[in-house]
Amino acid sequence: MRWSRSFIPTLRDDPADAEAVSHRLLLRGGFVRQLSAGHYSVLPLGRRVYDRIYRIIKEEIDAIGGQQFHLPALHPAEIWKKSGRWDLIGEEMFRLVDRKRAEYALGFTHEEVFALLAGEVSSYRQLPQIWYQIQTKFRDEPRPKSGVLRVREFTMKDSYSLDLDQAGLDAAFDLHHGAYERIFRRMGLLPVAVEASSGAMGGSGSIEFMVRSAAGEDWIATCGSCDYRANVERAVSRVSEVVDPDSVPETERFATPEIRTIKALADGFPDVAVPDHQIKTLVYILDDVLTLVLIRGDHDLQEQKLLDATGTVKARPAHPEEIQAALGALPGSLGGVGVSDHPVIADPALRGRRGMVTGANEDDFHFRNVDVDRDIQVGRWVDLRAVKAGEPCAIDGGTLEVWKGIEVGHIFKLGTKYSVAMGASVQDEVGDAHPIVMGSYGIGLERSMAAVVESCHDEKGIVWPVAVAPHEVVLTTVRADDPTVAAGGEDLYRRLLEAGIDVIYDDRAERPGVKFADAELVGFPYRITLGPKGLASGMVELTTRAGLVTEEVGLAEVVERLVGLLIAGRGGR
Ligand code: ATP
Ligand code: MG
Repeated sequence: MRWSRSFIPTLRDDPADAEAVSHRLLLRGGFVRQLSAGHYSVLPLGRRVYDRIYRIIKEEIDAIGGQQFHLPALHPAEIWKKSGRWDLIGEEMFRLVDRKRAEYALGFTHEEVFALLAGEVSSYRQLPQIWYQIQTKFRDEPRPKSGVLRVREFTMKDSYSLDLDQAGLDAAFDLHHGAYERIFRRMGLLPVAVEASSGAMGGSGSIEFMVRSAAGEDWIATCGSCDYRANVERAVSRVSEVVDPDSVPETERFATPEIRTIKALADGFPDVAVPDHQIKTLVYILDDVLTLVLIRGDHDLQEQKLLDATGTVKARPAHPEEIQAALGALPGSLGGVGVSDHPVIADPALRGRRGMVTGANEDDFHFRNVDVDRDIQVGRWVDLRAVKAGEPCAIDGGTLEVWKGIEVGHIFKLGTKYSVAMGASVQDEVGDAHPIVMGSYGIGLERSMAAVVESCHDEKGIVWPVAVAPHEVVLTTVRADDPTVAAGGEDLYRRLLEAGIDVIYDDRAERPGVKFADAELVGFPYRITLGPKGLASGMVELTTRAGLVTEEVGLAEVVERLVGLLIAGRGGR
């Protein structure tokens, strides 16, 4: 490839609205261009990186027995209605109607279509199977952001395992776990595998692969001394112990004028209402049901835990008017004492607590001496508490760190939800029918590309790992207008190509400074610089992009030298 004939629209300056490093560098390096919000065109250099990521993923999924499919992106509404997700998934699904007024959706994911095809598997002898595709997904994300990290149209490798039983699913899940580690390592990423919430996908367990980055949108808790790692949507920690009296007198209402917050109550009544002696009462509308959610005063609610525990599809905090109508008071004076006509869900840190303070459901009044088990009708006890950095790990007491990560992959144990819905079952040896046990496993290609940039860059630009670089080497001529240099450049370019090196030849008639800056921005792993002086003495410069270290190498040896350097970087199976 010659730079002079390539479309590599590099930008000198940072685009105004690009905050994430990967967004900025992929735009500046000429890899992508925005078409509309959360919607990008991938340009030739971007496509080359994408192809390498594609190949790595394909090789590793093929190696665990995956068979590649290509399913439609346009789905008839019926299949989504059959699984129940037509209603379950809200505005994130793009929907449309055809000329005959039939309803369609643009594929958000493909469990339904694969489960439908799995209906043709009839005997246990045909299992296990691993099916996958690398295909476009559409999601009307509420907040597309950070360039290609969160977009509305993207490519996903999605695989699906089909097994007779849970043990088969466990094995397929482990195979994917291993393949994902190899895939990401080959891309130059070292994600951490964390316990995750399965959200709307359902199923019994899921693991996310998280790359540490300030541009991430997930928060991860990891223990400093054991291998506990979990998304905060699921993470647990040890609760600080509180010693309560053995018994407390009857609850007593007391005036708390103008007091609306945990802190104000603690400041106003330091003897009785320190935050860990308060009950925080939140009111949610969970699938149209007004519900009281109780946590300890010094704790925060982790909303996803509430959704997961209740299987809620649509949740929102109740509006003040709704709360006033249901409980007779406004936020700031709410509590669960005596509430029997609304469900009450509470966090276990409140279990058995005595001598607590909570709102009296009357503006400007609270109750003291609350004995939770005695005075509040808790319908369900579920972990609702958000963990905080520095808390002790629930497993070994080590200190939890909480950091931001980019989710590059997610593997789910789905179970039989989709096979039952779509009628995919097999017969065992004695002729009994069993719904196929499924797993589903995703990796975002463009997000992976951006995650590599987030992990591999410096102040000059991207530093691509060889295995996913758009080209392995850039050959840069200084004084390209000098006929000797041009001839020397052509000769070296040919030798590099013959050695099987993926080289781009920067033969442009630009100043060296411009060429170097472009090469560093775009991030080719190695640069060879050839100029009139070096040519005369039979030397070139070899610059390694990581660290920008330059050495002089003989013109005769440089190709062999590069072949040696690239072998290690290319990786492969
Ligand atoms: P997120 O929580 O970030 O929205 P998700 O849990 O919805 O992700 P999955 O449904 O598990 O994601 O999709 C599998 C993979 O597809 C993700 O791990 C990610 O790499 C990629 N992906 C998901 N949504 C997007 C998006 N909007 N833009 C780019 N890649 C995405
Ligand atoms: Mg999502």
